[in-house]
Amino acid sequence: MPGTLYIVATPIGNLKDITLRALEILKESDCILAEDTRVTKKLLMYYDIQIHVLSYHQHSQEQKRNEILRLLIEGKNLALVTDAGTPGISDPGNELIAFLLEKEPDIKIVPVPGPSALITALSVSGFRADKFVFLGFLPKKRRSKLFSWLSEGKYTFCFYESPKRILKTLEVLKEEFTDRRVFVARELTKIHESLYRGEISEVIEKLQKDPAKGEIVVVVE
Ligand code: SAM
Repeated sequence: MPGTLYIVATPIGNLKDITLRALEILKESDCILAEDTRVTKKLLMYYDIQIHVLSYHQHSQEQKRNEILRLLIEGKNLALVTDAGTPGISDPGNELIAFLLEKEPDIKIVPVPGPSALITALSVSGFRADKFVFLGFLPKKRRSKLFSWLSEGKYTFCFYESPKRILKTLEVLKEEFTDRRVFVARELTKIHESLYRGEISEVIEKLQKDPAKGEIVVVVE
């Protein structure tokens, strides 16, 4: 009988943000597939889990996907994790799932839910979150066109952004939305977690005074 692929959410910073079920599945799997084996090994060491870790990342070739398929067909139970959060959300997880389902539609793929940076940010934004648009990482070009399209709607929207581009992106946002509030969440659940709320120009000022690096989610009201 084919094995199961578990899609296991892992912490987005604080190593304690992992479910009991996720730990159980990681401990009991035959092999863990990790985006960056060094990042995952830190988590495994923290919980004293000694399971073989195989790398699977965005540059993995078809050969690697076939190897994973073979392991599953042989009956191995595998756990897929990425560097942070829920695999498949703006990271290589879903490409692997699509491949496996295409080759072996009967393969069992089981979600093991947990943190995701986007939901974590949205949950403390204070903005309406009953309906929202998630944009992942923004395209590098034609951002103002995208913002202009969103400005016609009434949905809260959120996206992932790099610390290098955040100020520039907020400037482009300001041109499209003069009076909207924004929430910038940097380093969620980590020691240097910083949350900035306010009108776009206020948040720009706050970030200029505190230009630290770190992972960022932006939520726009
Ligand atoms: N699959 C992940 C999830 O469910 O959150 C997201 C993966 S995506 C490759 C990584 C991006 O998520 C980062 O560049 C950043 O924008 C955001 N992110 C991840 N961890 C974060 C954190 N602790 N604080 C703020 N943003 C974070």
